[in-house]
Amino acid sequence: MIYLDHNATTPIDDRVLEAMLPFLKTFYGNPSSLYRLGRIAGSAIDAAREQLAALVGVQPGQIIFTGGGTEANNLALATLDSQAGLAVSAIEHPSVMEPALHLKSQGHELALLKVDANGLITQSAIDEAISLKPGLVSMMLANNETGVIQNIAHYADQLKAHGIKVHTDAVQALGKIPLDFNRLGVHLMSLSSHKIYGPKGCGALVLEKPAALIKPMLLGGGQERGLRAGTENVAAIVGFGKAAELAKTELAEHHAYLLKLRTLLEHDLSAIPGLTIFAERTERLPNTVQIGIQGIDGEMLLMRLDQKGIAVSSGSACASGQREPSPVLVAMGIEPAQAKSAIRISLGKANTEAEIFEFIKQLKSLIETG
Ligand code: PLP
Repeated sequence: MIYLDHNATTPIDDRVLEAMLPFLKTFYGNPSSLYRLGRIAGSAIDAAREQLAALVGVQPGQIIFTGGGTEANNLALATLDSQAGLAVSAIEHPSVMEPALHLKSQGHELALLKVDANGLITQSAIDEAISLKPGLVSMMLANNETGVIQNIAHYADQLKAHGIKVHTDAVQALGKIPLDFNRLGVHLMSLSSHKIYGPKGCGALVLEKPAALIKPMLLGGGQERGLRAGTENVAAIVGFGKAAELAKTELAEHHAYLLKLRTLLEHDLSAIPGLTIFAERTERLPNTVQIGIQGIDGEMLLMRLDQKGIAVSSGSACASGQREPSPVLVAMGIEPAQAKSAIRISLGKANTEAEIFEFIKQLKSLIETG
């Protein structure tokens, strides 16, 4: 099997699994318990918080562990003040877009920040947002479909100067490009474990000022300093911490390797007639390539590739199964017919050049046979 869908999820790194196992079996204590078994679990969470904090350049106290990127995004949007408006980019992941639409249905003003043909948020969209004076602006750092990276720091500066709170969904950027919370200059940032070779069902919200901004969505036992109640998923948090530590030490190496593979892939893709690489000349994640092929249905191509043992995506994993064209590509002004031909190839650290060649070979033969 050739797995080319790392933006959907990644396999757990063996070293991550090894770090997790003792907390599923031997050290099963509740981290809130005062005796030794509980304290061991509590200390493991502290250590994981430090590992993640080191990856994104913050203090451990600025991190709230959540049940994933989706929860972190929901929690971030729930910080909106009761009367305030909200602006989100038109290309957000459903875990931002859906809570934003929910807030709208509850009477909050919602503005969508437009993107240009390359998938980049425009200055005029930011100017417009500023004139609307929303309470919160949410803009993703890297797009899950195209891999396009936004200049968040530049826009966050402008928004903050007008007293507007800024959130970024950095789920896809984490572990793939250097990520420094303070350099981004945002108030809130969402992260997820399973995109960086950690376990699923674990994520984090990073806060500029601990506690000050957050209204907890889950009330109960006071875990995560009262900001996210519920007994912690200790093994998953430990795994997330280990994955973060590995991502930090191996980032430069992986970035270079993925970019090399992507360059190879794009070189061969470019030679295929009728094939477009979306946002080709825009700064993108080193592992992500989204393509459209004239006259080909993306979902059909995905299924045919699957029969050949190759896994790709026809867009965001959460949206697969629905036959609508990708809202991300539509927001970029791509015609719906072309958007429906899209497939996404997202590389990972275990992919090889031989796998890229095999993918290209199979892709060409499937295109030829229609
Ligand atoms: N944000 C982005 C950009 C994503 O790609 C994803 C996952 O697909 C999420 C958020 C949701 O993260 P999780 O799967 O941890 O809930």
